[in-house]
Amino acid sequence: MIHFVGAGSGAVDLITVRGQRLLENADVVIYAGSLVNPELLEYAKKDCKIFNSAYMTLEEVIAEMVSAEENGLETVRLHTGDPSIYGAIREQIDELERLGIKYDICPGVSSFFAAAATLGIEYTLPDVSQSLIITRAEGRTPVPEGEKLKSFASHQSTMVLFLSSGLVGKVQKELIEGGYSPDTPAAVVYKASWSDEKKFVTTLGRLEETMKKENITKTALIIVGKVLGNEYSRSNLYDGEFTTKYRRGTK
Ligand code: SAH
Repeated sequence: MIHFVGAGSGAVDLITVRGQRLLENADVVIYAGSLVNPELLEYAKKDCKIFNSAYMTLEEVIAEMVSAEENGLETVRLHTGDPSIYGAIREQIDELERLGIKYDICPGVSSFFAAAATLGIEYTLPDVSQSLIITRAEGRTPVPEGEKLKSFASHQSTMVLFLSSGLVGKVQKELIEGGYSPDTPAAVVYKASWSDEKKFVTTLGRLEETMKKENITKTALIIVGKVLGNEYSRSNLYDGEFTTKYRRGTK
């Protein structure tokens, strides 16, 4: 059996209890070495076989999974954050389906949750933004025509950009051209939840300058939107006048 496990955003204690147990039971661990905290490997058994997928192709990863299956071993495929976000798990799953190998997926704390936690923000504030756009700038990996940053910017929703630190100039330009004003608050979180985490809150108009000055070129999230500011409305859920399924309001 292959278990895809979300390692969490970095801090060792941000893996789920289920994920930790799966790691403790694994005979083989294939981890995404570019971003998974190697301290997590200490949860694995002493004789566990460990592979760093940063040095492997998809075919090599699958070959190790097949070999583990043939020997009746349990494999954990450890992905950073949550495997469903830019995790490249679908191509592995399709190969496993084709080979008739069983798998399951254990979710993880994505880095965009860890970033919100360290910034002390809520992505969805009443009257400000009720939507979160998770996207990336177009670089070597193309983005479908209907998903250009400019078109997303027209919504002025909260936006989180993965994999885009090296393209910050383009991000800033396209988001402003698309409709966010240059004074829209923007934040950068580098290595959210790691011990060397860094965070900066600025404006969209000063985003590139801030990231260049702080020398942030990788392992960072860019967060844009008025939810980083101070204006919002209170929620209805906890409003004394508002009746809910659980509580009678005064109006
Ligand atoms: N599955 C992962 C994302 C993998 S894509 C998740 O759920 O978080 C890799 C990108 O994620 C990086 O380029 C960076 O933009 C972001 N990232 C991953 N871990 C991060 C962290 N701890 N802090 C900030 N950004 C992070």
